[in-house]
This record gives sequence, structure tokens and C-alpha cells, in this order.
Amino acid sequence: MTIQEATAEIAIIGAGPCGLTFARLLEQHGMTDYAVYERDAGRTANRAGGSLDLRPGSGQRALEEAGLIDEFKRLARYEDTVFTIYDTKGKEHLRLGEGRDAPEIDRLQLQEILLDSVPEDKVRWGHALVDAQLGSDGRPVLTFGNGVKVSGFKLVVGTDGAWSKVRPLITPSKPVYTGRTYFETRIQPTNPLYESAISLLGRGSTSAVGDNHILLSQKQGDASYRLYLGFQMPEHILRQGGQYDLSDADKVEAARSMLLDDKHYGTWAESYKQLIRHATDFRGWSLYSLPAAGLSEGGEQGWKAVSGVTLAGDAAHLTPPNGEGVNLAMTDALDLAGRISRWTGLSEGERTQDALDAVVREYEAIMLPRGLKSISKGHMMTDIMFAESHEPFVKLLKSFIQMEGKKETDGGS
Ligand SMILES: Cc1cc2nc3c(=O)[nH]c(=O)nc-3n(C[C@H](O)[C@H](O)[C@H](O)COP(=O)(O)OP(=O)(O)OC[C@H]3O[C@@H](n4cnc5c(N)ncnc54)[C@H](O)[C@@H]3O)c2cc1C
Repeated sequence: MTIQEATAEIAIIGAGPCGLTFARLLEQHGMTDYAVYERDAGRTANRAGGSLDLRPGSGQRALEEAGLIDEFKRLARYEDTVFTIYDTKGKEHLRLGEGRDAPEIDRLQLQEILLDSVPEDKVRWGHALVDAQLGSDGRPVLTFGNGVKVSGFKLVVGTDGAWSKVRPLITPSKPVYTGRTYFETRIQPTNPLYESAISLLGRGSTSAVGDNHILLSQKQGDASYRLYLGFQMPEHILRQGGQYDLSDADKVEAARSMLLDDKHYGTWAESYKQLIRHATDFRGWSLYSLPAAGLSEGGEQGWKAVSGVTLAGDAAHLTPPNGEGVNLAMTDALDLAGRISRWTGLSEGERTQDALDAVVREYEAIMLPRGLKSISKGHMMTDIMFAESHEPFVKLLKSFIQMEGKKETDGGS
């Protein structure tokens, strides 16, 4: 396979929220010498979604700097910020978030806004990175699944999510299974149970917790509900050919029966069991996290500064869900793009590889501790959300409200 010479200075691997926000911010800074390489075949190839809440100091700030806040506000669902916690019998214990400035947007809508904001020819669809190595000149050589091999970029930014193929250039750390998995399902507006779902789940998100299980619901932009049924289970049973391989219709029904047995949701309120009986579109979401060692410098598994390479978003700091993943990914994009713009602003003679590496190291110095904090919060929240009782979760969220209130009284410090 011949190695092509890069036709851009910066390669961005992955057109998710992080990669696209970064691309758009580069455009805003007048830096147009970049290319985004994405695994999906085209913009409509991957309809996997979910609803994301964008927060003022992070996700929304990135969109403001990207000049896209008005597009976001047009689609953002301010009426869906409410979050309610129940126990397994359907008794309400906490309701919060009404009027909170963290509106929801569907992942696909966010991706559309970002894609529309960068020139079409900047995104190279159908380019799944399969390998990244350092060449004899010390520069990364990227090999894609479609047979393309490219080298010569001044900077490769891995924004390719949980299973990043850029990451091995920086750390041998790999995501570790947390022991917990969600069955993701839907109640569509056409579902016979939809009207009951509206009265049970309402707007925004809900979470019923107990018996080391959780049932989360999230209202979507298309009025459907996404349900996440999570608990501890072996990693392999959702895999292809596994006991609950959800690509097999018979195994979906076996999974439904298992979910309804007394070891899982069988003893929960009848209204929750009805949701499980009628839910459709089953998918699995096993929760993984990068080990902290992978984000710390030094040690065999540690983070190593590499000339011309960095990571951002989930590729850098995959965490069990803590409600911040996308916000942090977009903040990384903001921090990195700001530093790159300083480098592009240098005079011709000063725009060296060393100068570029120096600004990238500055970015990593703030991104890594922030990522570590997020991973630790993700583990703490997962333990609480999959607990024996709803009480620790209620207590935790009350403490978050108090902290937010305190920040407001202190003037946001
Ligand atoms: C079901 C679910 C629900 C979630 N809910 C929330 C939530 O409510 N709030 C929140 O803040 N976060 C949530 N998250 C986490 C959030 O989605 C991520 O933190 C965020 O999307 C990270 O953005 P990213 O761009 O770094 O990575 P990703 O969103 O993973 O994007 C990576 C991109 O890279 C592409 N890619 C992957 N591998 C390759 C390759 N080898 N070559 C080329 N391209 C590649 C992918 O196709 C994708 O486009 C959720 C995640 C999931 C899975």
C-alpha cells in the first residue's frame, strides 16, 4: 500500500461532537488547513442517538465561540430539563431541574448543526482508522479500512471516541468494563402504551432506582421515550452469538423475559413492567471507563507526550456516564482550538513543529486533570445509581443543588 502525502496540516479522526466542534472552531479562527476522517459512510449512516443536555459553562460556551448558539437554541428543549427520582414502586422522591439552563438536544440534531457549519469537503466519510503508527520521520502514519494510508500531518487529533485507534500512540491503556450494562429500548409515539408512558414519565428524564437496578427514561426530540434498564451483568452476554445478542429477535424476547423475572424488574411497580413488556428497538450499552493510569504521566500504562498527536473527548477520558461526557468533549475542542489558533497566528518562521507541540502540551495540561476528575465522578455516580436503594442518589443530587446554589450566591466562583 503506497503512503499518500497529507494534503492538510491537521487530521481530525472522528466526526462526533468533539471532532466537529473542533473543526468548526478552527474555521472560526481562520485555520482551514484540516481534514476530518470519519468511519461512517455518510451523514445519515448512523442514526444512533440519545438526548444530551448542554451546559452554560461548557457545551453551550463552545457553541457560542463556534457562532452556533442561535441554531442550538432554536432546537434546544428547555421544557425537558426536569429530572425526577423514583423508587422501584414508583414513589416520587425528588424532582429538580425545572428552568435549569441545561436544555436537551438530540445527538443527531447537534451533529447536523455542526456538520452544516463546516465545508462539506472537509469531512472524509467512509474512512475508518484501523491503525496509527509513528513513521521513520517520527510523524504519524494513518491506515484506513478503505485502503488509504496517509502521512505527513503536523497534528493528528484523535476524537474517535471510546475505542480510539489513535490512543495507542499515546498510552497502552484500554477501556475497562465497569460490570454494568444498559438495555436501551424505546416507547415510540405509535406504541399502544405511549399514552400511559406520557402520564408515567412526563417530560424530561426520570430515574427509578433500587435493588441494584436502574430504569432511566429520557424524552426525545421526536416525542418518543428512550428507556435504559441497567444492572450488573457479564460483559460477553450481549456480544454477537451471546445469550442476549440483540440482533437476534428470539434473543430480544429472551432478554425481555429475563428483565421481567424477579431477579430483575419482576418485583417493581406494575407500570414499569408494562413499559418493559411493550418496549421496542432493543440495543445494548455496556459501560466502560479508561483507567486513571492512562491519563497520568509516567508508568507503563501512562500518558506519553507524543510530537504531532493528541486526544480529545471520549478518546482521551472515557468515563462511565456522569451527565458531562459531551460537555467535556466540547470543552476539550474549545481549549485545543484556542491554543492551535495561537500557533497559526505565529510568523512563518515561528510556526515550527516544536511550537505546535508546545501549545498541544499546554492543552493536555488542563485536559488531563479535568478528564481524571470526570472519570472519578463517573465511577462514584455509577455506584450510586446502581445502588440497593434510591436514597444515596437523592442525597447526591440534593448536594449538587446546594453546590449550584452556593456558586450562584458566591457569584459563580
Ligand atoms: C447511549 C449513550 C447516552 C449518553 N448520554 C449522555 C448524556 O445524557 N449526557 C452527556 O453529556 N453524555 C452522554 N453520553 C456520552 C456522550 O455521548 C459522549 O461523551 C460524547 O458523545 C463524546 O463525544 P466524542 O466526540 O468525544 O466521541 P463520540 O461521540 O463517540 O464520537 C466519535 C466519532 O468518531 C467516529 N469513529 C469512531 N471510531 C473511528 C475510527 N476508527 N475511525 C474514524 N472514525 C471513528 C464515530 O463514528 C463518531 O462519529 C452518552 C453516551 C451514550 C453511548
